[in-house]
Amino acid sequence: MNAKTHIVIIEDEKNICNFMATTLTAQGYKISTAPNGKGGLSLVTSVCPDLILLDLGLPDMDGIDIIREIRTWASIPIIVISARTQEQEKVVAQDSGADDYITKPFGPPELMARIRTALRHGNRLNTGSLLALRPYQADGLVIDFEKHLITLDGADIHLTQVEYKIVSLLAQNSGRVITYDSIISNVWGPYADDNNRILRVNMANIRRKLEKNPGEPHYIFTEIGIGYRMLEDTLERT
Ligand code: CA
Repeated sequence: MNAKTHIVIIEDEKNICNFMATTLTAQGYKISTAPNGKGGLSLVTSVCPDLILLDLGLPDMDGIDIIREIRTWASIPIIVISARTQEQEKVVAQDSGADDYITKPFGPPELMARIRTALRHGNRLNTGSLLALRPYQADGLVIDFEKHLITLDGADIHLTQVEYKIVSLLAQNSGRVITYDSIISNVWGPYADDNNRILRVNMANIRRKLEKNPGEPHYIFTEIGIGYRMLEDTLERT
């Protein structure tokens, strides 16, 4: 782990803040913390960290306003820390420029996975514009983006063009939640109807083809009310 990677934690709950700081320090990250929004913003401005962990429920400011403020001048990855009841806030946070979110309570492995993914992707959604993307591989599933080929345990999987677009968008951003709106605008275009039904129908078909048990997905997870997250690429897991 790069010892110079600097993470700012903005969180008013001492226990959670200490838990994250301890976990991340042990992993070799440099940590700075702030217990409120104002302190957090000035800390971010002064240290210019590589990543920000931001609690949405702060005593003095709305976390969403902090994201908007930071996004006016920096593209530092922001991971939102939220409570289970803040579904709507998570969507607004992502629309405002957050990269991902993690729901309380969470353990060290989940925290490390989110951070790794956010540091890898930066805050740009990867939409396959690179010509020579290496294949996605995870637990027997291989997606060759150049050849448009998908195999599961060596057997060809046949997807429709739309299904393939959805799966490759998720695979190229594996480990990271992609919102319904973001998938719809990437697959059907910016003027598409924002009704999620057609996406859900396609996802049901994708899961029938990809998942051994579509009711308990192993490759593509539903983040209820927000979007989908694909199993992290094996080659990216360290
Ligand atoms: Ca809080």
